[in-house]
Amino acid sequence: MKLILLGAPGAGKGTVAKLLTELDGSVQISTGDILRGAVAAGTKLGKQIESLMKSGDLVPDDLIMDIMAQRLQEPDCEQGFLLDGFPRTIPQAEALKSLLEKLGIELDMAVNLNLEREVILDRLTTRRTCSNADCQAIYNVKSNPPKQEGICDKCGCPVIQRDDETAEAISHRLETYNEKTAPLIGFYENEGLLLNVDAAGSSEAVLTAIGEKLGAR
Ligand code: ADP
Ligand code: ZN
Repeated sequence: MKLILLGAPGAGKGTVAKLLTELDGSVQISTGDILRGAVAAGTKLGKQIESLMKSGDLVPDDLIMDIMAQRLQEPDCEQGFLLDGFPRTIPQAEALKSLLEKLGIELDMAVNLNLEREVILDRLTTRRTCSNADCQAIYNVKSNPPKQEGICDKCGCPVIQRDDETAEAISHRLETYNEKTAPLIGFYENEGLLLNVDAAGSSEAVLTAIGEKLGAR
């Protein structure tokens, strides 16, 4: 499948994407994971974007498009992909549209994970992430803690609170989402690709809604 996952930070894009990859071998492409990996590795790109990311600002569209134009042409994308955290602005959505046309790739749909602001805030402040850049497994201190406190179940590295998960950075990310990313819902509705899903329930309920819509096409 070839999907875009839309939704505010904390809506569950990453969790849903990881579950979907297990269904048919589609790959998860998380721009946030790619960028955090670059910061952790201290690459030239990483140094350029470190402070933007820490404060919860977006990375410039042209940097993101360079990364994604390359990433979408890698062979593992042929089986399908789940775009998690991209596109995030109208210019990125427009650039993605022309890129996919050029590559002859057709999207199945854009899934919007809907969630109330209060639930989002609660999820983000209790979220923890594996500090290993190659793992980045997601946990929640209330609903999904690692088996051993502070240690990743998958790789044994420390599980931490992300730099951009301070109260200040979180509220800035939500503002940025409302201003820059929420307009994508209308964009994909116009494209006839939008599926709205209630993200307050279980991840399984989200998967079922996506599966039904894919089956109906
Ligand atoms: P979340 O969905 O929880 O906000 P992500 O891991 O998707 O977290 O993104 C973390 C940060 O990475 C963003 O706040 C932003 O700085 C940067 N980022 C990720 N994807 C994009 C993108 N498509 N465009 C611009 N910046 C991005
Ligand atoms: Zn890990």
